[in-house]
Amino acid sequence: MGIPGSGLAKGLAVTLRTMTRRAHTAQYPDVQPELPPRTRGVIGLFEENCTVCMLCARECPDWCIYIDSHKETVPPAAPGGRERSRNVLDRFAIDFSLCMYCGICIEVCPFDALFWSPEFEYAETDIQDLVHERDKLREWMWTVPEPPALDPAAEEPKEIAAARKSAEKLKAQQEGEA
Ligand code: SF4
Ligand code: SF4
Repeated sequence: MGIPGSGLAKGLAVTLRTMTRRAHTAQYPDVQPELPPRTRGVIGLFEENCTVCMLCARECPDWCIYIDSHKETVPPAAPGGRERSRNVLDRFAIDFSLCMYCGICIEVCPFDALFWSPEFEYAETDIQDLVHERDKLREWMWTVPEPPALDPAAEEPKEIAAARKSAEKLKAQQEGEA
């Protein structure tokens, strides 16, 4: 049997110890939390980059990405060439009541059309409103943080090199015509 009152003494010791520690209470929503830059809040869609390849919808473990599209015929690039067909997006929606924020859709998108935004204040009273359609997904794009700056010694990204090359070519063409 222990000493009488030792339990009380232990309890008081715990109380005294915690009284001297700083409280970790989050004062949200009066004080906004400081979130790390790579926070997974909501997903933004950069529609112009989406080729409707369906990879994200197929890889999503929760099947909560809904995509509808139709095919459109594009005239040949050069006279005598063959007509081509391309996919046109009709619907792109993510059901955030099912999403588990795994990020697989963003990882697998080969065309950089999906991005994480740290925004998290989109709770709804009706669960159906958690299905964000393409317009809403596009709006989230405005809240996506800029990518971190490149290391000064890093190699120039191939997209920038290609864009610079075509701009220089276009400029040279225009100067030749003038
Ligand atoms: S984050 Fe994961 S669960 Fe959510 S839509 Fe993307 S792949 Fe699906
Ligand atoms: S993986 Fe990317 S490009 Fe393909 S359908 Fe999804 S968002 Fe569009």
